[in-house]
Amino acid sequence: MAPRILTLANQKGGVGKTTTAINLATALAAIGERVLIVDLDPQGNASTGLGISRVDREISAYDLLLGETRVADAAVMTSVPNVAIIPSTMDLLGVELTIASQADRAFKLRNAFKAVDELSINDKPVSYVLIDCPPSLNLLTVNSLVAADAVLVPLQCEFFALEGLSQLLQTIEQIRSTLNPRLSIQGVVMTMFDKRNNLSEQVLQDVRQEMGDLVYDTVIPRNVRLSEAPSYGKPALLYDLKCAGSQAYLRLATEVIRRERHLAAA
Ligand code: ADP
Ligand code: MG
Repeated sequence: MAPRILTLANQKGGVGKTTTAINLATALAAIGERVLIVDLDPQGNASTGLGISRVDREISAYDLLLGETRVADAAVMTSVPNVAIIPSTMDLLGVELTIASQADRAFKLRNAFKAVDELSINDKPVSYVLIDCPPSLNLLTVNSLVAADAVLVPLQCEFFALEGLSQLLQTIEQIRSTLNPRLSIQGVVMTMFDKRNNLSEQVLQDVRQEMGDLVYDTVIPRNVRLSEAPSYGKPALLYDLKCAGSQAYLRLATEVIRRERHLAAA
């Protein structure tokens, strides 16, 4: 069966896209899935946060987008069991210019994923692909939305959480009505929730009011372990499994799977 392809998108930086990509992937793998992360951010935080050194980035998401490599050749295993990654390099900064004039510029990633079944992780097919987007609604993000089955939107529990969301939702709607009709919204995950801060609670209520059931029950707390782990090249789940952040991502993974089964059946 083809893997489910989820993209983590929000044109704001620092909202928890990469932290969610790394830790949700690890949590999904911990409950039996085989996960491929595609690092589409030229900053390469997902690649670094999973301990992928520069020498292991010889083949990158850039080559994949250009059609110069295949998923199975671009993917490298991480130290996390059952998690592979297609790393990013700074080359991605130039990809827009390279492909902008090509007719299939928005379909580069979708075309590359046609061969995703050539990749196996521990002799089994990949079951989830998670795409970590750059903080922009650029051609890279558009490629991810065209390739994906569903979008997962991380929103930070801060005053301006909803600002910019309508633009993202509009982009998703546009892509659904033109390039990718099967695209759905998997859910909205509230991140960096601080229970000592009244504002966090207020923002959570506002977003639930606005987005209803799209918001996951699981809320990711502000947790220092989540921000420390990348400097050790590990997901928080392998750095401190018991911390509140790791436990929240495990709960999120079960919610994501539950919703995926529902969406896939629909
Ligand atoms: P994005 O990929 O959207 O730019 P990141 O996942 O890189 O966002 O998060 C931005 C910063 O916030 C990083 O330094 C990260 O370690 C930190 N961070 C993310 N989520 C949390 C959290 N729940 N608690 C504490 N720090 C977090
Ligand atoms: Mg990021």
